[in-house]
Amino acid sequence: VIQVCLPLNALGFVYREARDALVNAEKLFQLLREKPEIAEAPGLPALKVPRGEVVFDNVIFAYEPARPILHGVSFRIPPGGTVAVVGGSGSGKSTLARLLLRFYEVGGGSVSIDGQDIRSVSSHSLREAIGVVPQEALLFNDTIAFNIGYGRSGAGMDEIIAAAKAAHIHDLIDSLPLKYDTPVGERGVMLSGGEKQRIALARAILKNPPLLIFDEATSALDTASEQAIQKELDQLSANRTTLVIAHRLSTVVDATEILVMERGRIIERGTHARLLDQNGAYARLWQLQQRADDSEQLVREMQSSM
Ligand code: ATP
Repeated sequence: VIQVCLPLNALGFVYREARDALVNAEKLFQLLREKPEIAEAPGLPALKVPRGEVVFDNVIFAYEPARPILHGVSFRIPPGGTVAVVGGSGSGKSTLARLLLRFYEVGGGSVSIDGQDIRSVSSHSLREAIGVVPQEALLFNDTIAFNIGYGRSGAGMDEIIAAAKAAHIHDLIDSLPLKYDTPVGERGVMLSGGEKQRIALARAILKNPPLLIFDEATSALDTASEQAIQKELDQLSANRTTLVIAHRLSTVVDATEILVMERGRIIERGTHARLLDQNGAYARLWQLQQRADDSEQLVREMQSSM
């Protein structure tokens, strides 16, 4: 397995700076909390997800009429499959996630889940069916139990603990004097980036949604925590339809399909192996990433021999 550990600004060929992590946290906040701009007809039926197939069909979209963002994007995530989107900053990756959550209305084309156009079902049922796992989790100023239980209203303490165990955060929580009643956030216990992520993961495990959006931010985690979390995410997304907005190529290698986006268009698509064979934009990114890894390795070796 080739480990990729540097954050990547696909296609821009520029490595992101720490500053971008803040921007990404803010963006995620928008992704989760943005007030839907759509008006919804009352009495729409609930979404049914017997299989978990997601289809974007020729989706056209603009936040502002004068500035088109997506120019006819089509892809299908087969039931239980994973589609990973890579591309430069502003190419439209997060917009796909926002449209799937129906925070905005498509300007043309359609988004459907198991044959139901998402405009024809209630937004509440749509969002119930989709778990969003951020890399930079935002926690509420409340207890750990609340922050995990938020994944599904009415969840019992035993279910919260089971989710925490699955996300490998239970032992840490259990070691705190107030355990699950420990407050987090500004006035509570300080958690590391990786620990917050595990809380978010536990939340998603508890929610147990048929569909998953993994909105990956360029992460401030060290490589070891990164890889550990990745393993649990892989488990969560196994047999669950997943859309990954990727900033690291390590997340995309096993995807059913990788979409390479540039300025609101898919410019390349395929599996990792096929895209490498094609020797296009994705292959260049991959080579660039390898070289970055090699030089990082070299620096480490030089440091340890000094
Ligand atoms: P990054 O890699 O930086 O996360 P991205 O590929 O996810 O970028 P999007 O967030 O999808 O990019 O944004 C696509 C374009 O839409 C960008 O040019 C962005 O400036 C614009 N955009 C995003 N959100 C809004 C908004 N709420 N209003 C207007 N324009 C927006």
